[in-house]
Amino acid sequence: MRRPVVMGNWKLNGSKAMVKDLISGLDAEIKGVQGVDVAVAPPAVYLDLAERTIAEGQEKIILGAQDTDLTNSGAFTGDNSPEMYKEFGVTHVIIGHSERRDYHSESDQYVAKKFAFLKENGLVPVLCIGETEAQNEAGETEAVCARQINAVIDLLGVEAFNGAIIAYEPIWAIGTGKAATADDAQRIHASIRGLIAAKDAAVAEQVIIQYGGSVKPENAATYFAQPDIDGALVGGASLDAKSFAAIVKAAAEAKA
Ligand code: PEP
Repeated sequence: MRRPVVMGNWKLNGSKAMVKDLISGLDAEIKGVQGVDVAVAPPAVYLDLAERTIAEGQEKIILGAQDTDLTNSGAFTGDNSPEMYKEFGVTHVIIGHSERRDYHSESDQYVAKKFAFLKENGLVPVLCIGETEAQNEAGETEAVCARQINAVIDLLGVEAFNGAIIAYEPIWAIGTGKAATADDAQRIHASIRGLIAAKDAAVAEQVIIQYGGSVKPENAATYFAQPDIDGALVGGASLDAKSFAAIVKAAAEAKA
């Protein structure tokens, strides 16, 4: 039985006040909720405050980051590294988000190198994959996801997905309110798991595959009722403690 992971991707949102309010509010809202891992990924400049705020609370909130460089130190202006993240208690790192693939021209192979570097440094990669609206309409969703996953398998072998997380995020559903139906998401999740199972059934059985794209308290339970949806990567709704906690609770109930 896979333990679901619900992760909040704060993107470029935050302030000192928001970090404190949101994390302490979330801590209170999820008090006693069992059976689900809860993670937040604030902007890197707030990791220190986020770590301290989590420590003041009662719940074990996992701290995540939103991207990584391919080196631990050096002349790479503006970047952050696994060694730095680890100093702040970060264990999970989002890579390959469509906003990075798009605005920073990150290729599948480049993202695969980030995956490798996170594994090398003992961090959990949260690998975002997903298709554009045009690719979806052309019936290319499975092929796009397979290409993005295969970039990692080609570089590292399928075993690299042991202990890793995949977030299937149809790009047309991110921040649009136009979420995929739970049935469509399940079909794609099953195809992703099937692709991995064809190479190694045990790896496929344990890999966490989150759905992301306009997940809200109102629709969260429909996703978590699906056998191959193991949690969610949440953008907008993770910026409100009550909304995010409602999604966490939906995962806990559905997967109990
Ligand atoms: C995301 O950016 O990872 C995301 C899923 O955003 P939203 O929930 O706002 O669609």
